[in-house]
Amino acid sequence: MQTTLPTAFCPACKRDVVLHADLDPSGAWCYGCLRCGGAVDPTENQRRNRSAKALVAMGYDIDGEAAGGGCSSGSCGCSKS
Ligand SMILES: [Zn+2]
Repeated sequence: MQTTLPTAFCPACKRDVVLHADLDPSGAWCYGCLRCGGAVDPTENQRRNRSAKALVAMGYDIDGEAAGGGCSSGSCGCSKS
């Protein structure tokens, strides 16, 4: 199974960036830029999933944690209450 990460265009960075996904207090998904931390609206900014290999080609350093951890590892601050 190939690892993919959600990406979208970040207006602040002026490039496609990896998104981090979080649940806001109301339980809705919200997304932010992993580079600058700014909010990114994935529905307005062409969200699409890219493979880890493609992200490395974009200049990201994908390690095991970033590629396989995500919310399920608790590293992004998601809280399931
Ligand atoms: Zn950004």
